[in-house]
Amino acid sequence: MRQVSIELKNVIKEFPGARGTDSAMRAVDNISLQIYEGEFFALLGPSGCGKTTTLRMIAGFEEPSSGEILIRGKAVHGVPPFHRPVNTVFQDYALFPHMSVLENVMFGLEMANVDKKEARDRAVAALEMVRLTQFDRKPRQLSGGQQQRVALARALVKKPTVLLLDEPLGALDLKLRKDMQYELMSMQSNLKITFVYVTHDQEEALTMCDRIAVMDKGTVLQVGSPADIYETPTSRFVADFIGETNFIQGKLMTVNGKKAVVRLAGDVDIEAVPDAETVPLESNVTVAIRPEKITIIPETGFSEMGSGAKVATSEMMAAINNEPNKTFVNGVITFANYIGTDTRYTVRIGESTNLIVRVQNFGNRQESTYKNGQQVRVFWTTDSARVLAH
Ligand code: ATP
Repeated sequence: MRQVSIELKNVIKEFPGARGTDSAMRAVDNISLQIYEGEFFALLGPSGCGKTTTLRMIAGFEEPSSGEILIRGKAVHGVPPFHRPVNTVFQDYALFPHMSVLENVMFGLEMANVDKKEARDRAVAALEMVRLTQFDRKPRQLSGGQQQRVALARALVKKPTVLLLDEPLGALDLKLRKDMQYELMSMQSNLKITFVYVTHDQEEALTMCDRIAVMDKGTVLQVGSPADIYETPTSRFVADFIGETNFIQGKLMTVNGKKAVVRLAGDVDIEAVPDAETVPLESNVTVAIRPEKITIIPETGFSEMGSGAKVATSEMMAAINNEPNKTFVNGVITFANYIGTDTRYTVRIGESTNLIVRVQNFGNRQESTYKNGQQVRVFWTTDSARVLAH
């Protein structure tokens, strides 16, 4: 069984309300979480959802109003930050401006009474790990990315068992951000330290992390692997926050095992996986489906698309016809937006349901395959659509 590194049990954090009001502000509202040893774990959510407050409580800069935090099985209530086996990398780096790069990295070790020679050796090793060689420079003589590396080296030099990172790449430009993402990932997998990573950037969380906790308004809505979160969001908020999703309104007609039938305006029936929660038949529900999970097919089948596409597409038609659990309905293209690698179509089905469909463009085709007003059919397998109760 995997060892638990950090555990939060019913953690609540309230801050005093604005002056003159009695109402407390609840920044974290009853969070329970387990983060495993060696895991790259993200706290992901929009601004103000309580990510930083959660991280600061793990670090010891804030204490919970109620509930408990355990690190490696030990309750840490009242333990100051520097006595916890964790280290934090802040978004603004928080480097000492009057100290050199090397002195910044050595500082924490010296405070912990580590012998000067050993502190220097360890600091040099940590700086090598983040590939920084400008030991004598002051922070203001460094770029944002280099300052971020110093902050990382300073956190890693103390060999924490947990590294807490609060939007560490937030101040970097896109290119540098991508490079640093890659470096953080390889560093984490080499060092096998538990990383708790705060970000509001869903792509960053999806590409970097082993598991993600999606937060909103102080609560954790869903915890899972990137694929779980993306493929099977359990709430509308999560589906919407993690990339683009179609939310289709309809009436729940039947539920049979893993298949629900939902009727849209205009009496079109579509299929989706039912929600885990039981929803009464005939109630209004939302079906979530990702734009890239929908296939557009010309009304007359693929043969009209030219000989090049014919072979592959006739196989595809056979696969569609053989698929027992599917939605296959008529529609009309109402908008086509060519965006280079993809074309983003709007397809109307039934009376008034608009679907966004993303189709990858192949070869050097410079325009979209389907035109406004064209009659088409849309197809998806039942397991790629989900009924959401919330
Ligand atoms: P961001 O991505 O913008 O940093 P966040 O998800 O990290 O947001 P927090 O910083 O944890 O959110 O803040 C959660 C809520 O708690 C916010 O409404 C914030 O205003 C409030 N809050 C945070 N710290 C304090 C404090 N010291 N006193 C009062 N309210 C606070």
